[in-house]
Amino acid sequence: MLDSAPLTEVASREVLLEVNNIEVIYNHVILVLKGVSLSVPKGGITALLGGNGAGKTTTLKAISNLLQAERGEVTKGTISYRGERVQDLDPASLVKKGVIQVMEGRHCFEHLTVEENLMTGAYTRSGRAEVEADLEMVYQYFPRLKLRRKSQAGYTSGGEQQMIAIGRALMSRPETILLDEPSMGLAPQLVEEIFGIVKSLNEEQGATFLLAEQNTNVALRFAHYGYILESGRVVMDGAAQALRENPDVKEFYLGMSDEGRKSFRDVRSYRRRKRWLS
Ligand code: ATP
Repeated sequence: MLDSAPLTEVASREVLLEVNNIEVIYNHVILVLKGVSLSVPKGGITALLGGNGAGKTTTLKAISNLLQAERGEVTKGTISYRGERVQDLDPASLVKKGVIQVMEGRHCFEHLTVEENLMTGAYTRSGRAEVEADLEMVYQYFPRLKLRRKSQAGYTSGGEQQMIAIGRALMSRPETILLDEPSMGLAPQLVEEIFGIVKSLNEEQGATFLLAEQNTNVALRFAHYGYILESGRVVMDGAAQALRENPDVKEFYLGMSDEGRKSFRDVRSYRRRKRWLS
């Protein structure tokens, strides 16, 4: 594992978030998640991996109770945080419990300045001095944002907008951050920078992360543990290092295949068929 806390240490920590066998249906008919289970230990970086449409965003939205706006609902299974069922809470109550989601696509208030955007993240809090201190903390992790604090967010770059989105989440003093596709649309160097900051926040501030990512390569270098989703099911999970070394993951998710990427599940059933025929 790349310089992160030893897995054994992270895995033995208290589980904060537990998703148990959930099913999600959109518009009463479209079954998207078909029994997804995962657990997120305190102080860990857990990656939720998979290609386009695998169900990563849906899983994060199910956790933060954002499905209703999309006509989606959790129809089976349970979601708990610190042992307490949270799937009936509204998103704001979940934020008060310490769980916040950074949505895919780096949503910013384009007409507000960078600093005003960050301050919107502190809306659940009172203590002005503490909020000021946290703003400084955010600027320490994202010095670029300090330089651009007075700029209108709409005129900042994609990387800066991703930083604003994460910084705004930090302003709510979260214990757990659900981060959706932080690498999306960013140049490789910026992706490394963002993941490096996530790692520092994890190690120095003790922030727990569940991050959804299509970029398996980078996610498995920074995460402690990973779950691979395909067509709404977890097809594999394990320590990040073990997944990185797994031949199937290497072949189908880390771009080390000559044939291009196939479905992981297709390959597994193909192998099963081959065994059966031989
Ligand atoms: P991406 O990286 O492309 O966002 P993802 O793994 O996050 O992929 P989801 O966005 O969770 O995948 O989508 C999973 C499946 O659910 C897809 O087939 C998608 O078309 C479907 N889906 C997502 N949102 C809705 C919706 N509001 N109504 C109906 N189907 C939806």
